[in-house]
Amino acid sequence: MTSLSKRYGSERVALKDINLAFGKGLFGLLGPNGAGKSTLMQIMATVMPPTGGTVEYGSYRIGKNDHEIRRILGYLPQRLGLYDKLTGEEFLNYIALLKGMKDSAARRIKVLEMLERVNLQDKARRKIKTYSGGMKQRIGIAQALIGDPQVMIVDEPTAGLDPEERIRFRDLLEELGLERTILISTHIVADIETSCNALAVMNKGEMVYQGTIPQLLKKV
Ligand code: ADP
Ligand code: ADP
Repeated sequence: MTSLSKRYGSERVALKDINLAFGKGLFGLLGPNGAGKSTLMQIMATVMPPTGGTVEYGSYRIGKNDHEIRRILGYLPQRLGLYDKLTGEEFLNYIALLKGMKDSAARRIKVLEMLERVNLQDKARRKIKTYSGGMKQRIGIAQALIGDPQVMIVDEPTAGLDPEERIRFRDLLEELGLERTILISTHIVADIETSCNALAVMNKGEMVYQGTIPQLLKKV
């Protein structure tokens, strides 16, 4: 991405001249609340346009090739939305339908595969509102994985998880990061310390550091 900026209204500057590049593997986006992480991720996920600058995925550019980008992208927003009354299976079936999978038999296979991938096959027929925090995040990953994205954007995935769920969730992301690019935002260093290949640190809408974790720790 190049010189990305975002203002909310005429006053609040949420992003200032952000430049960022990343390849395959896990990439951490670290920063306190209000740093601009969610804003950056929403722009990258084509949910919201930037005020200035651009984001490119290969030859695709946001604002111009959004349709194509959504096909190669999986996004887990900070709050998954209002699907609590659906079962895990119904929810994933619905997302598969939204992604354009018209064949119901193919959808069933895909949904089962995703449920197994995040180890929720036993909870397929339970309503999402009965899931634990960790289970909700895993169904969130499952929906982001439908369509086999090359890039996943995961916003504060460990918020509200207990320590054990945190570790399991991190292991899942590490496994998924072997095959694709995953961008994870967090305000907790421990979440990304051992698993991310590289990280960027944001504060007040600015990118204050980019590099590896050992390099960062040497600096402080
Ligand atoms: P983070 O994800 O790092 O906590 P955000 O991107 O959510 O940061 O927020 C960055 C700044 O932009 C904050 O000051 C926040 O209050 C502001 N902000 C975020 N979303 C909106 C919005 N929809 N309207 C106005 N201000 C917003
Ligand atoms: P975060 O942890 O990312 O800062 P928040 O709880 O601040 O999340 O924001 C939740 C939602 O509210 C987001 O969609 C964000 O864009 C929006 N939001 C955040 N700050 C403001 C604001 N000052 N005015 C309007 N919407 C906001």
